[in-house]
Amino acid sequence: MAQRFLILNKIVDDVITKDWDINTSFSCDCSSSEFCDPHHGHVVTGNLKIIKDRKLRSLLCKGPTFREAKNANWDKYLENVKSSLDACVQQWALSKKVDVEMFQGWKTNVMSDVNSKVAELRCKRFKRRRSVLNSPKIKRALEKLQEDFVFVPTDKASNNIAVVCKKFYIQKSLEELGIFDESKSVKKDGSTYVAVDKSRQEIIKNHIKYTKSNLNTDDIPESFPFLYWIPKMHKKPFSKQRFIAASFFCTTKPLSAVLTKCLKLVEKQHKIICHRFFRDYGINPMWILHNSTSVHDLAANFNRKKNARNVRTYDFSTLYTSIPHDLLKRQLAWVIKKAFKSSGKTFISVYKSGASWTNSPKKNTLALDCKKFIRVLNWLIDNIYVTFGDQCFRQVIGIPMGTDCAPFLANLFLFSYEFKWIDKQRKEKNHKVLQLFRSCGRYIDDLCLINNNDLMKEVMADIYPKELELVPDDTDGLSCPFLDLNIIIKDHIISTSIYDKRDAFDFPIVNFPTLTGNIPLKSAYGVFVGELVRYARACTYYDDFSARTKSLINKLMKQAFTFRKLKASYFKFVTSHFLLVQKYGSRILSFPGDECD
Ligand SMILES: [Zn+2]
Repeated sequence: MAQRFLILNKIVDDVITKDWDINTSFSCDCSSSEFCDPHHGHVVTGNLKIIKDRKLRSLLCKGPTFREAKNANWDKYLENVKSSLDACVQQWALSKKVDVEMFQGWKTNVMSDVNSKVAELRCKRFKRRRSVLNSPKIKRALEKLQEDFVFVPTDKASNNIAVVCKKFYIQKSLEELGIFDESKSVKKDGSTYVAVDKSRQEIIKNHIKYTKSNLNTDDIPESFPFLYWIPKMHKKPFSKQRFIAASFFCTTKPLSAVLTKCLKLVEKQHKIICHRFFRDYGINPMWILHNSTSVHDLAANFNRKKNARNVRTYDFSTLYTSIPHDLLKRQLAWVIKKAFKSSGKTFISVYKSGASWTNSPKKNTLALDCKKFIRVLNWLIDNIYVTFGDQCFRQVIGIPMGTDCAPFLANLFLFSYEFKWIDKQRKEKNHKVLQLFRSCGRYIDDLCLINNNDLMKEVMADIYPKELELVPDDTDGLSCPFLDLNIIIKDHIISTSIYDKRDAFDFPIVNFPTLTGNIPLKSAYGVFVGELVRYARACTYYDDFSARTKSLINKLMKQAFTFRKLKASYFKFVTSHFLLVQKYGSRILSFPGDECD
């Protein structure tokens, strides 16, 4: 269903950039709509009541991944089974080097079993379902809506569809691309993108040529990322935009995939370096975390000694769009060189599943030495393009967006500054300062410090480059959200529970499957168990765990899950995750759903 609504690609492609000006452009009727966002002056809403047609609305409410159930076509089904069976027998005969006839008896038996089962099912009366999207009336209603509006997923709740005024949508995109600045000839300093004169075809040709000569690969997608945005509905007081370069298949993909494997290896090497650093000097300069589970390890150290005093989180507000490319290149070169030196090897061999250090790469394996690694990475940083309508733009500031290696670049870039600063404090014997930086964790652009006494606020300008803005949370320092956790300090003990940004949404969230759709039952209950595991990992106390579980059960029951099966899944979860839930004691053995309404 997703493709039918989210036809952004087409909307974006149709734009002719010259036709757009900040003042004179298409008009819209947003101001008279009750769904108009007062701040933007246009419709930006997650409230699907804007869709008048009831059937269409109820379908959209189920989210973009909902699939309409189909009626079974038994004749077609039998035909498919038969042809697949034939193909299977062919292959089988070939691999065993016997005649196809040998399988004839077996084939007849299988088909007769299938036939009798189908005959049985044919007799059962299935409720005829009618597809909402195939009704001409609804199709027309949808097309009419799409003249004025764009349907996009919502940030942090991708199963919720938001409705945005089309004019506003295009205008915001052009603003991000800096088009209006140029036409008014006031070139805004620090614009992330600049328009280029080259055509899409020319750039693609160059990319293919470069990738071929450096990676010895022919498998290069000939397409180009386009820029789009989705609304961040949870931002208060008004929604903001998250810009994304859609680049699932694009020319830089193979190169970015290679770099990702190499950067992973480099990060691993720095973990080793930092481990040695910790062993020698008693402080760990590696703050990078890959998930919120590591926060429990940080907390455990304090809980053993019962000396947790304060916790503060910070967030790099514009990490991806504010790093100057020359800084990015310089720092990454430092990180890569240091990793090569510490490994004692001259090459990185790149395989399908990963990369490893080596001195003697095999002839047919792609291998990069330190120089080539840095050269290829710099090329990628210089060659990030997006299109919008008929124009190509180059990203001139920030981390290459929409590439696989973006999070690694961001992580290692910040790491380089953190390491250097910690090492400087060590050399200057600032033991008091180091003591306050013993428990730091950073997940890309989210930073969490325990017992730092807010010293970070004073020294952040020393640690990080001036282009980055680091914003502390505004709590009392005893409780704050970090990733999907709520961290709370009470009586010098750190406890955690689930934090969900989506709790702040003022419309219902579609993040679980609705069982009336076309999805396998087993995996749906698997999603339930998966959530229980997540809750149990995150929640120190049983009350937080059971409150979360109850609200989930209530929600799922409204989406056609059954009480009996949820209960059975719950106990399956308790038995199979005994070690995880034993901290809750015997209370875990009562089903929270029993107390639900
Ligand atoms: Zn509008």
